[in-house]
Amino acid sequence: MIVTTQLCARCGSEQVRKNGSTGGRAKYQCKACGFQGTRYPAGPARAARYAQVEKLLAERNSQRSIVRLTGVSRMTVAKLAKKSAAGEPAVAPAAPEKGATPAVGGA
Ligand SMILES: [Zn+2]
Repeated sequence: MIVTTQLCARCGSEQVRKNGSTGGRAKYQCKACGFQGTRYPAGPARAARYAQVEKLLAERNSQRSIVRLTGVSRMTVAKLAKKSAAGEPAVAPAAPEKGATPAVGGA
């Protein structure tokens, strides 16, 4: 017998039961607080995939090669490319050296 302990994402209770499915993933409901959620929420996995896409964009890979590597839709890659181009520059412009301290009081 396989016993899996599934804890509630909100209250940490062990009193969870299966409650249908969404997108092929089982949903769970907490009997203690009533919270419903999936066992593997999509948000963190998506954020990791998008971070990889942005890294590949910074390395100047083509959008279609990023689609092949990550499986993210090309329109999503285009959206992230536009966002990264408009927002923060992937490569920071040449900033003045902060570490170089001027020589004080030549001995
Ligand atoms: Zn709960």
